Amino acid sequence: MTAFAYTDPHAPTPNPALISDEARIEFWAEQAGRLDWAEPWHTTHRFEKPRRTGEDEDGNPTYTVPEIAWFEGGKLNVSYNCVDRHVAAGRGNHVALYFEGEPGDRAVYTYADLQREVSRAANALLDLGVGQGDRVVIYLPVIPETVIITLACARIGAVHSLVFGGFSAEALKFRVEDTGAKVLVTTDGQNRRGVVVPVKAAADEACSGENAIEHVVVVRRTSRPGRTDLPRGTRGLRSKDQELVPWTPVRDVWWHELTARASDVHEPLAFDAETPLFIIYTSGTTGKPKGLVHTMGGYLVQTAYTHALMFDLLPDVPDADGVLRPDELSAVNDSAKVDSTVHWCTADLAWVTAHTYEIYGPLVNGVSEVIYEGTPNTPDYGRHFEVIERYGVTNYYTAPTLIRALMGAFPRGLPPVYNLSSIRLLGSVGESINPEAWRWLRAQVGRDEVPFVDTWWQSETGSCVASPRPHDPQFAPPGTFDDAAPRTSPKPGCVTRAVPGVSLRVVDEDGTEVAPGLQGFAVVDKIGPSMARTVWKDPQRFLSSYWAAYGERGWFLAGDGARADEEGDLYILGRVDDVINVSGHRLSTIEIESALVTHPHVVEAGATPVTDAVTGHAVLAYVVLTRAALDLSPEEVRDELRAHVAREIGPIAKPREVIAVPDLPKTRSGKITRRLLGQLYEGAPLGDRSSLQNEEALDAIAAVLAARR
Ligand code: ATP
Ligand code: MG
Repeated sequence: MTAFAYTDPHAPTPNPALISDEARIEFWAEQAGRLDWAEPWHTTHRFEKPRRTGEDEDGNPTYTVPEIAWFEGGKLNVSYNCVDRHVAAGRGNHVALYFEGEPGDRAVYTYADLQREVSRAANALLDLGVGQGDRVVIYLPVIPETVIITLACARIGAVHSLVFGGFSAEALKFRVEDTGAKVLVTTDGQNRRGVVVPVKAAADEACSGENAIEHVVVVRRTSRPGRTDLPRGTRGLRSKDQELVPWTPVRDVWWHELTARASDVHEPLAFDAETPLFIIYTSGTTGKPKGLVHTMGGYLVQTAYTHALMFDLLPDVPDADGVLRPDELSAVNDSAKVDSTVHWCTADLAWVTAHTYEIYGPLVNGVSEVIYEGTPNTPDYGRHFEVIERYGVTNYYTAPTLIRALMGAFPRGLPPVYNLSSIRLLGSVGESINPEAWRWLRAQVGRDEVPFVDTWWQSETGSCVASPRPHDPQFAPPGTFDDAAPRTSPKPGCVTRAVPGVSLRVVDEDGTEVAPGLQGFAVVDKIGPSMARTVWKDPQRFLSSYWAAYGERGWFLAGDGARADEEGDLYILGRVDDVINVSGHRLSTIEIESALVTHPHVVEAGATPVTDAVTGHAVLAYVVLTRAALDLSPEEVRDELRAHVAREIGPIAKPREVIAVPDLPKTRSGKITRRLLGQLYEGAPLGDRSSLQNEEALDAIAAVLAARR
């Protein structure tokens, strides 16, 4: 038995047996009962671990690629499960989506509306010649059409691949070509920070090389309706700001014209559970993105279960002390909880977080959710709080980078003008959350009392692997228990335990478990049904990236460092690639950054190793300062913050340099790309940059560094 498996002593029905293979597989078979299946499966799970086959020319061991399958023989329709069955169950009038556009436009879709729109979209795609197995790249902002077209692809068995609307033509081109997509869906333009940004030209550029694109479908978002009747000979359509929407006749199709002639009734077909559902490219934080393939049945089962677990939809049962706790093994949700939930995951729809906890999870569980198109600071940083108040959001699930930005915007706390009393739960994903940011959000938005789920997972695992439980005793108010105090105190930045049905270990290079308090590699030693099946068109990369180290044992290497505390609760310490090794002391980037952001001058921090002739590595830190600190000299900043880190962690962690910069480079999902920070400082060639959301941050840092030399 491993320390991090499902052994939660506080759970209402402790079932350590869940980590035996049979019990675990049986658990997932029960959870599969959450879905409507057109045909039952014959084999719940099959896992062919990598087997050693010999050696390559250089004497390195070679292995077979792993094969993973769940619910083989079963048939289902993912879109039916997310939409139609709620209508069939009499919940057609329940709100599925509350949409708010950045300019302030709003729309509400009930489940019945969604059923009509998804059906219409499915018919429209079929009309274009899209069929089962064809790839569709969806390059759209956060608008209802994105959700509708994604579900329509799932409905007809086409494989979708969503691309962040803020990506460059180059990043899109790579995905269009790598997926071999037949159709690209895009918009005329996007609302971004209060202005209309043209998009279609970038889509055209992405389609300019060798590819399989037959149609570019354009959703009208920013151009004026009714301007499809331009004078003859005009090649293109004028948008609101009179920019020409470039147009290639025959290839390009307006979405509203395509759907106008499509029926809103579509009979979904059932597909084999192992049919590919989507290809998701990793954030590219550490290098060239990998196109991970997820399949229909297993993905939807674990997504449905983990969404219910983390966002508190499971029925409550009394534990030994008579305290009500969610029944973590239940395969059905509490209908009152489902009805009263207004979920908001703030991620862009193209990120894996949004696939699982903004598209599929909330909809398969039948809750209402908010989707918001814009940036959080348009027109100002109060926007998210207005949205929470307007729709009565109960679950606010966001990323550390945004929380830090909000802290920077409201250094004295939120003004008392927002009514945030609807909030029942907070959540975070994407990076280790700095304890300071955790406390800030819980105090400012969560009244210092709501549960906070810090959810650790990856594009590869498809859904959450480790997270605190909403009813974890660490969140219980004083006086809940006989001893008049919570049994454990809050643990900010702690991802706690594996979710039921999967298990984790923290191991060293040889696979030996490391003792509490020490840093090791996080491995998923028992995978769940939503695990990626392969890397698109590159199974060898799937093998070499994740299974080379411990694959023969069937363990998946997650690539993150981790540490357990004495109670067996887990902390993620950042990428293994980012570990800083100063004279043999392994320091975690995230701990240094978290120490820096506790300083009142610091909004954000990025720490990275740089080579040091004596100590191996030295710590280099970049910081984004609050406005009040901008008058300080570079020397004052450095000395003050070096001393601060020495006080918070110890002299060994003291950065060699602390450099104030205007912004840190981040991926589209808001992760700091630390490898670029080191490369900039050392003047090394910069690696893959295609996933950055703010390439200009690199130039700004280069300018700061040049000014120092
Ligand atoms: P690439 O694999 O291409 O470098 P990426 O790892 O950033 O990109 P994602 O799959 O979007 O792509 O991100 C998963 C990673 O995000 C995890 O491996 C982990 O490093 C980090 N992460 C996600 N959630 C958490 C969390 N709650 N705590 C700590 N780290 C997290
Ligand atoms: Mg990764």
